[in-house]
Amino acid sequence: MTLSNTKQTTCVTLTSCDQLLASEESWRVLAEILPQLVWTTRADGCVDYTNQRFCDYTHATPEQLQGYGWGQFLHPEDAERVLTVRAHAFRTGIPYEVEYRLQEGQTGRYRWFLARAMPVRDEAGHIVRWFGTSTDIDEQKRTEEALRQSQECVNILMSSSIIGIAITEGEQIVNANDTYLRMTGYTREDLREGRINWMQITPPEYLAQTLQAQQELAIQQSTTLYEKEFVRKDGSRLPILAGRVTLPSNSIQTIGFVLDNSARKELERRKDEFIAVASHELRAPLTVLKLQAALLKKRIGRQSMQKSAADLEQMGAQVNNGVRLMEELLDVSRIQTGTLKYAQESVDLGALLREIVETMQQTCPTHTLILHGATQTMFVSDRNRLRQIFINLINNAIKYSPQAKTVEIDLRTTAETVTISVHDHGLGIPPEQREKIFERFYRAAGAREHAIPGLGIGLYLVAEIVSHYGGTIAVDSQVGHGSTFHVTFPRTSQA
Ligand code: ADP
Repeated sequence: MTLSNTKQTTCVTLTSCDQLLASEESWRVLAEILPQLVWTTRADGCVDYTNQRFCDYTHATPEQLQGYGWGQFLHPEDAERVLTVRAHAFRTGIPYEVEYRLQEGQTGRYRWFLARAMPVRDEAGHIVRWFGTSTDIDEQKRTEEALRQSQECVNILMSSSIIGIAITEGEQIVNANDTYLRMTGYTREDLREGRINWMQITPPEYLAQTLQAQQELAIQQSTTLYEKEFVRKDGSRLPILAGRVTLPSNSIQTIGFVLDNSARKELERRKDEFIAVASHELRAPLTVLKLQAALLKKRIGRQSMQKSAADLEQMGAQVNNGVRLMEELLDVSRIQTGTLKYAQESVDLGALLREIVETMQQTCPTHTLILHGATQTMFVSDRNRLRQIFINLINNAIKYSPQAKTVEIDLRTTAETVTISVHDHGLGIPPEQREKIFERFYRAAGAREHAIPGLGIGLYLVAEIVSHYGGTIAVDSQVGHGSTFHVTFPRTSQA
């Protein structure tokens, strides 16, 4: 038997059958001492020999493995692929290599093997047998898989659109993901040219804190998360949350993680502003109340009862304002905790709107409230929550149209929906603010709007109640000409 390795195929050639028999003994000995699973097949791929290690691994007898018996130990997911590779090899006579999982007979666990097989030819060049080995590569496969998974994690992390990641050497940023570049406003070209330097993108007032983080890094290989700002390439600032770690294997480089903190900062700013405005707004009606109570006391003392009745009415209106503000604040916290309650009753929207318009008109001398289409329209809901929606929208329409004379309210129905629109001829709302006005504590930034008191919770409550009933709220507006808020409820779900 001689081994040859030609360009096309590698194979074993037999010089004579006798020689094969003579060498049979010696290769069997060899097969038994090899650490691999060793097997031979007939020319058609039918297994006719397996070494002891193969039997031990599968916990099967040579007879059970013979023919295609060994196939029962193949992992079902690998079987088709392996059989295709083998079929091709036996058809063409080309040696093959294939990886597959083979079941351990005793434990039922699968391990990865690399099988290699080579044909043996007679003098005429006909294949008489195939020799094969299966080498346990399970450890290597698992290491490869773990590496692949960790590489996948790194790739996902680096392509994150939320976390900015930068690798730093000294003061120089030497690598960064797209998110980091977007946050700093620099380009990949800037990065390649070494034009991003963390000292440069750190505002002077944050320098001391950043240097302290640097020291922390030297001692414990990582920093705690700290707040700072970036000076972007165009000079603008971006509030961020930053943290850094060093690699144990490379103490020169550090990896920085950055989160955009601007939304949180904006919310904080709004909250502070809200608290300032809220305390002022809540104090105002109560101060008036206090004054009027003192006045009333004096008047009653002087017995001028008629004037006192008017004062009492004004006091009542102020108390109502204070109570409404308090209620709305409470509702906001109820929404946060998911405890806002809704009653279930049959409400005539037309009648409710007529009642609201009538009451509000009594205390609003500046505007005429005009109601259209207020016919009987039944809607199962919570009367007081609906009242909250309409009072808020009409109140806003009056408040934000100080120069106008009218506010129009309109009720329209189709077979599927009922829509209530509130239209004013006031300041209008710029397009970029039209979604934000429904956020908690949001108040428009314009000077004129700021002169008008409010807490920025009315529309938040309105949107919440509307969505509870599966409805929508939309706004059409033209700055300087006015706004229309449309609330649409589905009627079909009610039927
Ligand atoms: P508030 O009126 O108490 O500030 P809202 O939540 O009711 O709070 O409204 C949020 C913001 O939406 C207001 O600060 C105002 O800028 C804007 N807005 C609401 N309604 C109108 C309107 N009809 N016209 C113009 N701007 C409005």
